[in-house]
Amino acid sequence: MTSPASGTDIATALPDYAPVPRSAVGPALNDQGYYVGRVERNLYWVTDGSYQSAFLTTKDGVVLFDAPPSIGGNIRRAVDEIASANGVSNKVTYLVYSHHHADHGGASSLFDKNVIRIGHEETRRLLLRDNDPARPAPEETFADRRTLKIGGERIELAWRGPNHSPDNIYIHFPDHDALMLIDIVNSGWAPISICNLSEDIPGYVAAPAIALDYPWKHFIGGHVTRLGTRDDVTLHQQYMADIDASVRKALVSVDPTPFFQKYWDNPWAAVSALFDAWTDAGAAPVIEKYTGVLAAADVYTRSTVFWVMESIRLDLGYASYVHP
Ligand SMILES: [Zn+2]
Repeated sequence: MTSPASGTDIATALPDYAPVPRSAVGPALNDQGYYVGRVERNLYWVTDGSYQSAFLTTKDGVVLFDAPPSIGGNIRRAVDEIASANGVSNKVTYLVYSHHHADHGGASSLFDKNVIRIGHEETRRLLLRDNDPARPAPEETFADRRTLKIGGERIELAWRGPNHSPDNIYIHFPDHDALMLIDIVNSGWAPISICNLSEDIPGYVAAPAIALDYPWKHFIGGHVTRLGTRDDVTLHQQYMADIDASVRKALVSVDPTPFFQKYWDNPWAAVSALFDAWTDAGAAPVIEKYTGVLAAADVYTRSTVFWVMESIRLDLGYASYVHP
């Protein structure tokens, strides 16, 4: 019998990665584990170093945009801190959901029942389906566009098709020079697993151009440790374009024949090995180019390459072979 591995043994066995570039690092957190900062005027953002939410202080109370459970009670503390510093109301009167996912909305129920929740109609449908008491469904919904005017502030909500999730929306603050778009671009960082766990890859790839069509200076992407700029969105676009080009090259340059020769009686073994070979060939030049440029490019590019490859094959039909 072997004794169970200790935490130290596991940590020692974990791989090392390239250092996080300084350009990817945001402000330090306080003792309670959060940072709250001004985006512009009365628009603020809150982070725990991994997740981000935002809020507007208005004459009619605070409008909260997302409530990630990892920030949790620190959202309340951040709102209280800013409200008392500025002598404005700390009462959260509205909560806008960016999309239905629990990791961005799972602290919604911390806010009392008097809060009015607003979201896309698909967010409501999905939250009613998923029936999670931590995320009450929005009572107020919209289909394509909705302008909120709350306490003299203007917020433009728009749904422009599925991308990361079927219900992910653009939240534009025209009077604060800011755009909030969650789980598409992680400013300074590579996307996490399979394009930030995205469901619709053509929609995911198209989203940054839609974001850049809006006028804004400050980008609230929902992750990781800092706000973004237009350059961050452009760099992400370039990264995704390089993945696209590299995947297309890999799909036509790696010959499937030997995989099916070796595993002639086990097509799944052949497909698995072929997917790995395509992914490795597609990822290698992108990892090389972006290590030191985008944080965690060496951690996550392979996973995103795999998912883009499947979309290029299955959504776009690229390199599809029709048996004669
Ligand atoms: Zn999400």
